[in-house]
Amino acid sequence: MHRIKTMQNKKILILTTGGTIAGSGEDHLQGANYKAGSISGETLLSSLPPIPASLEVYEVAQIDSIEMDAKIWHKLLTLLHQNITLYDGFVITHGTDTMEESAFVLELLYQESKPVILVGAMRPSDAIGSDGIKNLCNAISLASNSKAKGVMVLMNDKIYDPKTIYKAHTYNLDAFASRNGGDMGYVLDGSVRFFYPPYKHTLPFVTDDLISLPKVEILYIYAGISDLPKFSHEVRGLIVAGCGAGNIPTKIRIQLRELQAQGIQIVACSRGNQGFVCESEFIPAYALSLPKARILLALCLQHKQAQEDIKAVFAHF
Ligand code: ASP
Repeated sequence: MHRIKTMQNKKILILTTGGTIAGSGEDHLQGANYKAGSISGETLLSSLPPIPASLEVYEVAQIDSIEMDAKIWHKLLTLLHQNITLYDGFVITHGTDTMEESAFVLELLYQESKPVILVGAMRPSDAIGSDGIKNLCNAISLASNSKAKGVMVLMNDKIYDPKTIYKAHTYNLDAFASRNGGDMGYVLDGSVRFFYPPYKHTLPFVTDDLISLPKVEILYIYAGISDLPKFSHEVRGLIVAGCGAGNIPTKIRIQLRELQAQGIQIVACSRGNQGFVCESEFIPAYALSLPKARILLALCLQHKQAQEDIKAVFAHF
């Protein structure tokens, strides 16, 4: 009798949220004129070629990711934690516009090691030259890989770290880049290669922190800015998009000190996409981008951390 060695297929749960990967339009030649999040998770899955994984799909939302919010992040994290023992890995389909923010939130709040791969597309599902199915196949391969751990993003064959990824191009298929470094790895037709291993900071945040997050706004500095805009009374923190290494004009700095004296925590960030901010009279954002600094500050404020403690959290990045 011959024994045939069979590879046990990994069980992957696909959580869909919408985005261009689930987008469709009337004109298949038009990659830019379509409705994001218009096809169901089931339909998306039905277009996959045979793939060596056992797949299940759950539709979490069907939105353009510009509508993404803390409620959906909470739902995603709850589903991941509830299903952790049932699957070997997870794939989240997501619009590309706010993918870097969702990936970062999940990175901060998902405490397990089973892989969670965010994936999207730059062209809608029915456009000529759509990248969605290829990206999804690669994401499933990555979620099935034994070296993959924690949260990662897969776009255009490249594996990205949630801490450093940002959307750099509005339309091109190679839309993402990494702040201060290269991609974590590459998926070539389903075969995964890591350039460096995933790493994660352990921070004291939990999923329920996302319920009623404190309000944090972003202030953009530009040449000639004369006064701070009026912020609502609910604002508890401010991310300042300073020029260069987080620089802020003197007059604005004085006004920010007044806000700080009223109990608003101020984080100094940069308008730039590379480098870091490490010296400031406020809390330096180090290498975090503006939207990611906003998320981190809101989570810190949820724990009522003092300025020195918040500084220590940001120093991880
Ligand atoms: N606006 C779309 C979204 O973020 C863009 C995309 O998915 O590429 O949902």
